Amino acid sequence: MTESVSLDSAKVRVAELRQQLNQYSYEYYIKDAPSITDSEYDQLYRELEQLEKQFPTLITQVSPTQRVGDKVSEGFQKVTHQVPLYSLSNAFNKEDLLSFDQRVRKLTQEPVQYMCELKIDGLSVSLRYEEGRLVLGATRGDGTIGEDITQNIRTIKSIPLQLPKAISNEIRGECYMPKEAFLKLNEEREAEGLDVFANPRNAAAGSLRQLDPKVAAKRNLAVFLYSSATTEGLEANSQEELLKSFKKLGFVTNSLCRKCDTIDEIWSFIEEISQNRANLPYDIDGIVIKVNSLAQQQEIGYTVKAPRWAIAYKFPAEEATTIVHEVEWTV
Ligand code: NAD
Repeated sequence: MTESVSLDSAKVRVAELRQQLNQYSYEYYIKDAPSITDSEYDQLYRELEQLEKQFPTLITQVSPTQRVGDKVSEGFQKVTHQVPLYSLSNAFNKEDLLSFDQRVRKLTQEPVQYMCELKIDGLSVSLRYEEGRLVLGATRGDGTIGEDITQNIRTIKSIPLQLPKAISNEIRGECYMPKEAFLKLNEEREAEGLDVFANPRNAAAGSLRQLDPKVAAKRNLAVFLYSSATTEGLEANSQEELLKSFKKLGFVTNSLCRKCDTIDEIWSFIEEISQNRANLPYDIDGIVIKVNSLAQQQEIGYTVKAPRWAIAYKFPAEEATTIVHEVEWTV
């Protein structure tokens, strides 16, 4: 009896959470104007995940937990990605990371090494090169279908239009607006009596989804590249080598990353970065931890929404401190 009551109340709460999360996703992904903080969103999302875990019969294909991003907005041509762009599962504390490590080690026989990278708070973009030439730039969209934003992507000066090698592949990364450019943009908008952007991520998303590329060209956007659809032309067996091969091709990669063998080592990296976060010239919202070997990544595989071989540790809501520490970076 108790169980049916709790199932009934779970049903009501699940419906309520889905309705709220869908509304917030729409505001965040389509309108680039969120009305709640990411931490508040993550908390509601986590509540829904936990209820669905407790009552698996309540899971449906249309639940926000079962899909990446949101619907693709009108106004841009739709493009199908060569291979899907996934989201990432989240971790909020060391225990979550230890459980992730245990799951990973159950799915592979070989010893595991991790690559830790900064989680840049921007939006995913996918750059398609054919025979070394940039032919398409797209947003992640719902993971399978994105928006064709090629004209805006071409305005980002650090993105090579032609590679030194005739490779055909999709190179993925995070487009962001540096903090300085964001502050300047908001000052200008305020002076002109326009609405200011809530944060650099919204400003970057709004700029990339401008129909007039001249507007995007003025916005000082930047990109860090960190993954690709395939390894074609890249000579990489690990995430570390992938980043090195991107650099050789002329892409900008983020050098603040570290290879780690244990969760304790990863935790030290997280602490160092948290303490230095405010001094970075761009916003980050966490640390992404990836199994370093690409062969092991394939072996470990994916859920419908995210790779099983990676996790995003999200920083807690309170603001970063400004203490400066000496940090030893690799790569
Ligand atoms: P996510 O932000 O939790 O993580 C996945 C994304 O991380 C990738 O798609 C990629 O774009 C990015 N990323 C940055 N650096 C990376 C790196 N080094 N390697 C790999 N990926 C990297 O997932 P999401 O699906 O993009 O968005 C969900 C999140 O968006 C939520 O957790 C929430 O914080 C936020 N959100 C907020 C609202 C709101 O109303 N405030 C609404 C919807 C979503």
